Formats: sequence, C-alpha cells, structure tokens
Amino acid sequence: MKVAKFGGTSLATAEQIKKVYQIILADAERKIIVVSAPGKRFKEDIKVTDLLIAYANNRINLEDTEKSLYAILHRYREIAEELHLPYHIIQQLLADLRDDLQIEVMDLNKYMDAIKSIGENYSAKLVALFLQNEGLDAHYLNPKEAGLLVSHEFGNAQVLSESYDNLRLLREKNGILVFPGFFGYSPDGDVVTFPRGGSDITGSILAAAIDAELYENFTDVDSVYAVNPNIIPNPKKIQELTFGEMRELSYAGFSVFNEEALIPAFRAGIPVTIKNTNNPAAPGTKIVFSREAYHNPVVGIAGDSGFCTINVSKYLMNREIGFGRRLLMILEEEGLSFEHTPSGIDHLSVILREDKCTKEVESLLLERIKNELYVDYVAVERNLSLVMIVGEGMQRTVGLASKATTALSKANVNIEMINQGSSELSMMFGIKAEDEQNAIEALYRAFFGN
Ligand code: ASP
Repeated sequence: MKVAKFGGTSLATAEQIKKVYQIILADAERKIIVVSAPGKRFKEDIKVTDLLIAYANNRINLEDTEKSLYAILHRYREIAEELHLPYHIIQQLLADLRDDLQIEVMDLNKYMDAIKSIGENYSAKLVALFLQNEGLDAHYLNPKEAGLLVSHEFGNAQVLSESYDNLRLLREKNGILVFPGFFGYSPDGDVVTFPRGGSDITGSILAAAIDAELYENFTDVDSVYAVNPNIIPNPKKIQELTFGEMRELSYAGFSVFNEEALIPAFRAGIPVTIKNTNNPAAPGTKIVFSREAYHNPVVGIAGDSGFCTINVSKYLMNREIGFGRRLLMILEEEGLSFEHTPSGIDHLSVILREDKCTKEVESLLLERIKNELYVDYVAVERNLSLVMIVGEGMQRTVGLASKATTALSKANVNIEMINQGSSELSMMFGIKAEDEQNAIEALYRAFFGN
C-alpha cells in the first residue's frame, strides 16, 4: 500500500487533475490519495489558500466580499466543468462550498483555520467525484471521520498520538480514499491547520499510520536539486538522500518538501519519494535511511537569509558556571527559540531568526543581558545569511572545509561564523545576506563543477 500526496500545482486545473488520475491508475498500490488545495496555474496566479485568507480577512474587517468570494467559487466551478462532472453534481458541490464559506466569524484564529481548510476539503471532494465519474471505486474521507486528531494550536497543529491508531483502520477500507491535506480536528471538534505547506505532513502521518510501503510526494519538479535552480540554472539532480540530509537542506531553504513532514515517515521507517506529476516516468528523488556516500560526500548546498546574532563577550566567561544557562534562560523567558550558539573562550553568539527579534525585543534583550549578566559587550548584528554544505559523507572526507573556505575567499565573501555540529552532517557559514548568492555560486562550483 502506498500513500500518494499531490501538491497544489498538481490540482490547479482540470488538465492537471487528469494527470493525477492517470498516476492513480498506473499503480494499484496507490490506495490513499492526499490532496492540497488548487495551487498556481502560472507564476502570477494566486493559490486557493491565499484566496481563502483574503476572503477571511475581508469578512473579519467587515469589507465587501463579493470579489474574493467569486474568485474562490470560480476556481472550483471552472475545474469541475472542465472535468465534465454532471451538472447537478457541480451545482451541489458549489452550493456546499458557498455554505461553508458563510460560517460565522468567531474567534479569529479559529475562524481563519476553518476557512483555510476549505481549500483542501473541496479539492478532495472534487477529486473523489471525478474519480467516481471515471468509474473508480473512490471515496472522499473527512479527517474528523477518519480520526486525525491534532493539538489545539491554530495554524500550527501537532498530530496527537491517538490519531495513528484511528487512521490505521483505513487499511481495512475498500477502494481509493481521497483525503484532504493540511488540517485535522482538535479533540473538542475544531478544525486546526498545520503550518503552510502542511499537506505534506498529512501524507506523512497517513503513511506512518497505515504502515505504507512508500510515501510518494508528487510535486512539479523532477527531483530535489543540489542547489536552488533560481541561483544555478539546471543544477545537478539528487537521486537519493537521507532523512538527515533532507532535514538539513530544508532547514536552510529547500522548500520542495515541508520540513515537519519528515518526522512521521522517518519514525515509522517509511521511505519517501519526491516525484513530478508532469513527468511521472522520471525517477524522482528518494529519501532513505542510509546511503553509500563515498562518491559524493556533499549532496547539496543551501542558503537562507533572515538571521541575526546576539554577540556577547565577558572576560573569563569560560570559568563562570551557569553563564550559558542564564543567557539562554533570558531567551526562554522572552519566548524565543534560538538556532545556533557558536562560542569562543570569552564570547558567545546566539543566532536567532530575525523576524522574531523585532527592535523592541532587541532592546529588551540587550537591557536584560547587560543588567543581569554583567557582560563587557553585547550587541545585535542583523542581515545574516546561513549557507550550508550538506552530506552524510563529510565526516569521512578530509579537506572539505578547506575546499569550501577557499571557494568563499576566492569569491571575496567574508565568513563571519563557521559552525559544524558533531554529526558532521553539514557545515554552516554565517555571512552577510548580500553575499549569499555569490557564496552559493562559489560553493556549487567548488563541489559540483560548472
Ligand atoms: N494549501 C496549503 C498552503 O498553501 C497547504 C499545502 O498546500 O500543503 O500552504
């Protein structure tokens, strides 16, 4: 049994949904189909989830909703008509959709999640209706009925462990099950969504629950690439990478697969394949538990901006028991998670995501660190990018750091920080954000040639 998840671009038009149908037909093991909301048809297009958010905001702000409501209904109508669904079925689907969109504005976060979930929910209904119309034994499945229970954190749901036992029962169901991605229900019955891009998470949870032989994630690229194709045209394709490598690359900006989505499949020992709906014959990228990494110790290069660092110095810091704990305690008390803490003898830097460190937060932190830790120096530096080289084989290969730093120095990029964890799965360079592209190009050339 396989779980196949299709992303937004795979459901954006009737033509795309017909490709999904062919993919389902091609393999009888594809039992559970998880769908996103219809995504972009072209570059400037708007995803249905974003249309829904705009509509919800109109309602919340008591603005006119005529346009935003029409945009949503029109997307579904167009797809349903082009799929040649019977007239009365289309009318019923649109009437239900319109009703669901009319729900009363309540607690804002709760309302927003209820509206956001409609995109996936109606995508699943539509696909199930189409498959039935084509003669397949297909059924739409609601996450509530299936028992996908999640925590009560709107926009940031976490799966509850009892979900796995509930969902396991889906193994016994007949036919093809079409499941909406992106949301579940809290134990008291509220719709709660995962973070954006969260349909990947639903697929992974289902694959783990039914103990699938494979979790296939269909998107719109042939594979995961060794570097962002917007920076290097036609970069090397990655055929196989480990869960660890994927995690590191996702952390630093690879967005092909939602980073939280790796966990359920990984824990349950289910391999993942990333494939292209528009080219299903291509082998795609396999995410596996281990791989022979001798030939290519570095599998990919990633970079992400939007970091800042709090640099702290205090003479004899290395001898002061509890200094690190007290510093991190301040962050904890202010509700901030930190990313990395590179250190020297009398220096400690704490790297944070810049969006969490607003100007107000910055002055509060500086105040507290000065007053409570009696430091000699503390300052916040902004505009930092983290660029990473990632690969399982790095720990057994001599000379990689020198190769990377030589490439960066030749490209005239000043390295502000180097960090390598004990796993040696990645090596990270902190640089100024304006040097990011240059740095990635230089590193790609050094490790993958031209
Ligand atoms: N539709 C949701 C989003 O745009 C979730 C998903 O597509 O995975 O974020």
